[in-house]
Parts: sequence; structure tokens; C-alpha cells
Amino acid sequence: MRKSQYDAVIVGGGLAGLSSAAYLAYHGKKVALLERGKLGGRAMTIKLKGYQFNFGAHAIYARDTSYLTKMEKELGLNIHWEDYTQLKAKYDMGDDTSVIPSNIGGMLQTKLLKGMDKFRFAYHMLFTTLGIEKGDPNLSIQEWIELRKISPAVKEMMLNLATTNFFSGDPDSIPSDVFFDYYRRLFKTSIPVSFIQGGWIVLINEFKRIIKENGGEILEKTKISSLVTEGEHVSEVQTKKHSFSADHFIFAIPPEELQKLFRESPIKSDLEKYTDYEPTYVMFYDIGLKKRIESDYTYIFDKNRQIFITDISYYDMEAAPPGGQILQAVGYLKQNEINDPEAHDQMRERMEEFYDKHFEGWRKHLAIPRASKKPVLQAIRWAMNQRGLPTHFTSLPNVYFAGDWCQGYGQLSELSFSSAYEVSRKILNNNTATKGA
Ligand SMILES: Cc1cc2nc3c(=O)[nH]c(=O)nc-3n(C[C@H](O)[C@H](O)[C@H](O)COP(=O)(O)OP(=O)(O)OC[C@H]3O[C@@H](n4cnc5c(N)ncnc54)[C@H](O)[C@@H]3O)c2cc1C
Repeated sequence: MRKSQYDAVIVGGGLAGLSSAAYLAYHGKKVALLERGKLGGRAMTIKLKGYQFNFGAHAIYARDTSYLTKMEKELGLNIHWEDYTQLKAKYDMGDDTSVIPSNIGGMLQTKLLKGMDKFRFAYHMLFTTLGIEKGDPNLSIQEWIELRKISPAVKEMMLNLATTNFFSGDPDSIPSDVFFDYYRRLFKTSIPVSFIQGGWIVLINEFKRIIKENGGEILEKTKISSLVTEGEHVSEVQTKKHSFSADHFIFAIPPEELQKLFRESPIKSDLEKYTDYEPTYVMFYDIGLKKRIESDYTYIFDKNRQIFITDISYYDMEAAPPGGQILQAVGYLKQNEINDPEAHDQMRERMEEFYDKHFEGWRKHLAIPRASKKPVLQAIRWAMNQRGLPTHFTSLPNVYFAGDWCQGYGQLSELSFSSAYEVSRKILNNNTATKGA
């Protein structure tokens, strides 16, 4: 078996693995990044007939306060951003549309709240932003609201925000502390959503560049199928033909893969507690159009259909050829629909109807459609009594975890970046833990 030795081995080449490998390499560590398939994981960009399709959508939330921005500055990543126009993000209300009140500007414009209710909601926003409204880990947001005297319109507004941003039609499953944490951050930001120009591939290439420029190795098509533990430390990870030894390991791979790899380690039972998630599966349906269809919104969400459309090319100028357009519809599946092909067909039909309603004439201009054949895992849902996987267990001191299933900050890819940043800092601050383990 071939053997190689590193300061840090990172298993998994999604955004979490790439960003931690880049961070450690930049700060002088000899790293190897091992990916079983292609770099990028769930974040990928596919170019077809001059249109760039991104899965998942490359929207970054609250970038001014994000870990990605921290890394961008520290590592000198070359990224160009286009920020959301807040007032163009709307709810579909049946016969009408309304601005989503995700910050003060949106709140003043929204039709969902009227008169005094705007002030009442502003009061909640202020208390949330100041950290006075914290929620309670033992109460769902639904229970938390029921226990307070809140006007029906404000109550409805809070429940709407909960279902929009927590991928759940069931506010009883969203812990109230998670809800308030999320909104504290959102209400504080002046740029709620931004897009990376050129899509995920630009970011992936930037992390790759930093790794390579700093002497790091990247191995694709390299699936780690076993590990070797010596006492309290992991000493090697292995493919069938190659063994990789290191002082530190970051596992940026999903919970079900972790369970397989760590089935004979001291953290087996710890992992079990954290890997029983309720994932959110979505169907997406992107369309590349030859000619732009103008509308007064660039994001539209229908709570009843559980579908939203984003005008990707409005924000990412490189996504479509000149004069063209890329629209992305994402539809949330209920738990009982995940394995039901009939429900998937119905979702696709609902997405087409939603396009018909908001981007009339799209079929005439269609250059290329790209719809998911089966549901894809978008996110892990934080339910009551369920928290993210810790990034470190003291019983295996040289092993760290990163990814959007881990404890971290924000939602979606920000969980990947924040957990990656945190574990990389820990490794840099702790050079003593493992030598001679
Ligand atoms: C439809 C959709 C829309 C989305 N929209 C957004 C959005 O707008 N904004 C946003 O921020 N996020 C969005 N997301 C979420 C975002 O894509 C993820 O949060 C992010 O890509 C997760 O990165 P990760 O590195 O944590 O995990 P992953 O991307 O899952 O990476 C894990 C990697 O580990 C590799 N791997 C697994 N097992 C092994 C092994 N044994 N050996 C070696 N390698 C292994 C996998 O191949 C994979 O590359 C969306 C996701 C989807 C699906």
C-alpha cells in the first residue's frame, strides 16, 4: 500500500473540505484534500449550451457578517458579488404579491402587516436584534408564540418567516432559540442575500488555487473507506490502495459516511446521537431562456405550493448568454413525498404552473431545461431536541468535523464555512495534541 504523511488530511471536497484545506494550506500546513468524486460536492456548476446551472443556488446569506467573507479577506479570494435587491424579494399571496420583511426596509414596504402591526413587528425585530428575545431550546417557535400575547397578524408573520427559512411547514418542529438566532443575524445585516458572479465554480477554483499555491495536494476520485485508530488518535485514513497519515484529520463528509467510517471508534455512540437527522429534500427545475422575461421581482415564494423561483441571471451576469435568462425553481417535498415518484411528477407540474403564473411565455423562449430527476438533499433540518454535530469530541482529540450538518453559524453553506473555519483555527492553535500518538 502506498503511504503519504501530512500535517492535516481533509476528507471530503465539498465547500467545507475545500475551505478548510485552503485555510490550513495558506497558514503553512502540509495538507491533502481527498474527495471521492469531483470537487464541490452539492455545490456545483454545470455549463450547458452557454448557460450555467448551479446546484444548489449560489445565494449567500448576510455576507457582510459571514465566515465566507472572513475567509475571502484572510485568504485573498477573488470573488465578485452581486447583492439582492431586497424589495424585489416577494411572497405570492394568490392574487397579489408582497415584499418579504426580512429587514427594516422590507418591513416598511410589506403588505402582510398593516398599521400598528408594523410597529409591533418592528418591536420584535428590535428585541431580537438586541438579543433580548432569545427563545428557549425547549420550546418550538409555535409554542413560544402561543405563550405570548402577540397580535394575530404579527404571529402569522413570524410563522411565515419560520416556514420560509427553515424548510418546514411545521413550526412546531423549529426550536425557538434557533429561530431567534437566525433572525438576529438577518435583521442585523444590510445585505441579506448575495450571489457569487460566475457561480460556485469560481469559489471552488479559488479555494483550489490557494491550496495549490501553498503546496497542498488535491486528490479527486479518492474514496476513504477505512481508518486506523491508535489509542485515542486516528493515525491514518485509507483507500483500497493508498494510506494517508497525518497529525490532524478533518472529516467534511456527511453523517451517514461518518457512521460507516467510525463504526469501530470511541466516538461511535456519540455519532449516533447526532446523525439521526430529518433532512430536507428538494426538487429543482432550472430553465435557460433565449430572451429575458422582465418582472418586478427576482425572488418569489409561494407558501402554499412550497415553491420559490429565483431570477439567477439578474444577479449573476455570467449565468446566461447576453439577452438570455436563467430562472431556478426549487420545491420543498414533505417527508412522505421523498420516495414517491408520483409526488415528484406533481411537484414538477406545480413548478411549471408557477413559472406560467410569474414568467408568462417562458415555454416560447425555452433554450434548455434542467430538472432534478430525483430529490436532492438541500439541508439538514434543526428539529426540536436535534442539534448539529459537534466539530470535535475530546475522546478523539486529533479528529475534527465540518459541514452543513455540524454545529456552526447561519444556514446552508454558511454552516459549512463556519464549521470549517472553526476547526481550522483549532488545528492552527493546537499543534501539540497529536505528535507521536
Ligand atoms: C438544490 C439546492 C439548493 C441550495 N441552495 C443553496 C443556496 O442558495 N445557498 C447556500 O448557501 N447553500 C445552498 N445549498 C446548500 C449547499 O449546497 C450546501 O450547504 C453545501 O454545498 C454543503 O457543503 P459541504 O462541504 O458541507 O457538504 P457536501 O457538499 O455534501 O460535501 C461532502 C463531500 O464529501 C465527499 N465524500 C463523501 N464521502 C466521502 C468519502 N468516504 N471519501 C471521500 N470523499 C467523500 C462527497 O463526495 C462530497 O463532495 C443548496 C443545496 C441544494 C441541494
